Order: sequence, then C-alpha cells, then structure tokens
Amino acid sequence: SLFVAFALGALTELWADFMRASGAAERVFELMDRKPSIPITGGERPAAIQGRVELRDVRFSYPARSDVQVLQGIDLTIQPGEVVAIVGPSGAGKSTIASMLTRLYDPQGGQVVLDGKDLKALDPEWLRQQIGIVAQEPLLFSSSIADNIRYGRAGASDAEVEAAARAANAHDFVSRFPEGYKTLVGERGVQLSGGQKQRVAIARAMLKDPRLLILDEATSALDAESEHLVQEALERLMKGRTTLIIAHRLSTVIGADRVMVLEGGRVVQSGSHSALMGQEGLYRRLVERQFVAA
Ligand code: ATP
Repeated sequence: SLFVAFALGALTELWADFMRASGAAERVFELMDRKPSIPITGGERPAAIQGRVELRDVRFSYPARSDVQVLQGIDLTIQPGEVVAIVGPSGAGKSTIASMLTRLYDPQGGQVVLDGKDLKALDPEWLRQQIGIVAQEPLLFSSSIADNIRYGRAGASDAEVEAAARAANAHDFVSRFPEGYKTLVGERGVQLSGGQKQRVAIARAMLKDPRLLILDEATSALDAESEHLVQEALERLMKGRTTLIIAHRLSTVIGADRVMVLEGGRVVQSGSHSALMGQEGLYRRLVERQFVAA
C-alpha cells in the first residue's frame, strides 16, 4: 500500500500539472472544496545530499479523520547511512511516518527535515527521486521483467538493468525463463513468487540508486531459500543508504542500528535490540509474541 500511495502521489502530480496547464485547476479544486495539500513543483533541488532525516515533533491527522491525531509528536533522527527499524502494533502509525518522508502528506505540526532543510522547501519531484521504496507486496506492471526493473530509472541500458538484477539476486531466476528479461509478468505473463517479486522490486530500487530507502517488510514468511536471497539483496541495497524499515522480522530488528517502538502515534521506546530486550516494556512483548520467527 505504501508503493501504491507513492505511485498515486506521482500521478496526482501529473494530474495537477495537467490541470494547471489547462487552467482548470482552480475551478476543480473549488468544486471539490479542497486545495491540494502539497505544491506540485518548484522548490530547491540540491545537487547532492548526505541523507540525514529528522522528524521534529511531528504531529499529524489524516484529512478524513481530523479528530484523531495519528502521530502525536514524533522526534526521530536518522543519520546518513543509518538503518532504523520501526516496530509497533497495527495502527501505531508506522506507515504514516513513512508517508511523512515521501510527502504524501504534510504534518500539521512540527517539521520533517532532510539535511537541515524542511521538506517543504524542496522540489517534490526531486524528493521522490531521492527515495527508493520496497513494498511488502511489490506491484509489478503487466510488462516485461526488464521494463519493471527499468521503472527505477528510465533510460537505463540493458547492461545496467542486468547489473541491478544481479545485485538483487534476481538474475538467476530471470535467466531461467526462455525469454529472459523479456519475459512478461502479470496477468498475461508468468506468475512470480512473492520472493521473486520482491527481488524485482529490489533491482528496481538498485537501479534508482537513491540516498534514502523505505522498506516495508513482508509479514508473510517466504520459504527459507527465498528468504535468504531477499535478505542478502536487501542488505546490499541498504549499504550506505539512510534506511527506514517498517519491520516485521526479528532478524531485521536485530540487524538494525536502532529500533523505534511506536504505540498510539508516540515513540515509547528506542534503542538497540539488545538494549530494548533488557527492558520491561512493549518491545519485549512484541518480540516474544508477535514477530515472525526468523
Ligand atoms: P499496520 O501495522 O497495520 O500497517 P501502522 O502502524 O502502519 O499499522 P498506520 O497505517 O500508519 O499504522 O495507521 C495509523 C492510524 O491511522 C490507524 O488508526 C489507521 O486506521 C489510520 N489511517 C491510516 N491511513 C488512513 C487514511 N488514509 N485516512 C484515515 N485514517 C487513516
């Protein structure tokens, strides 16, 4: 759903561009009695980024439920290259935090900051280029495997697509199809397993080569072989990138630099896995009861 939301964000931009160009935007938004919350284009496009992400006292309610504060003052800093795992019960606000980073929504209070700059000062399109997302259940288009990977960076050469697939542990299974990278996936093509889809999504993110990564970890277990290949590919992908993982697996939280425990839109605990295991609290209960064993 994170990926869908991300894609929808991009579509909304296109739509708004179109409406603006046709001069009809104002009238339509008047009719809809709302303004787009996020400006479409414009803003800074820094030449290079370090990738330090900060949430400063972020408060947020969804437009449709303005009476419920889903994020109730989140403070979080992720250093360049650091891996932070967010855990917490269903509805705690984990995905909502991720959508603050992509600017699917803007917070009503506090700030989201990248390398010291409020995201609102940055060009939204530029921002999307800096963020790679690997969703729980990646959406693949009804097109070739190559096209699906190339979605990460239009114009990438076949050699670049293949290099990304190799890094994502996808090349071997792709090569086993008679049509290789031209194999169609989706309804009229081959059905990929969950682990294979994830590796295609990882290859896509490899090709995009973003500074920031958001990983929405699958809740359902893959078979051991596939799990290992996905995990290895993810580790390669995360190397050197600022990463936020919505974590569902014990192996992930153990491997993260830091774990944030979220409950009811607040951070209730934060620290390394071993430090948190040494405390009375929600984290230990989650680990004992809820995590998929890995
Ligand atoms: P899960 O582990 O189940 O994915 P989560 O921790 O990611 O949960 P969020 O998806 O961030 O939680 O949701 C936080 C709260 O916001 C929930 O109460 C949810 O019902 C609500 N919520 C999420 N999306 C919307 C939306 N588009 N409109 C209104 N409320 C929403």
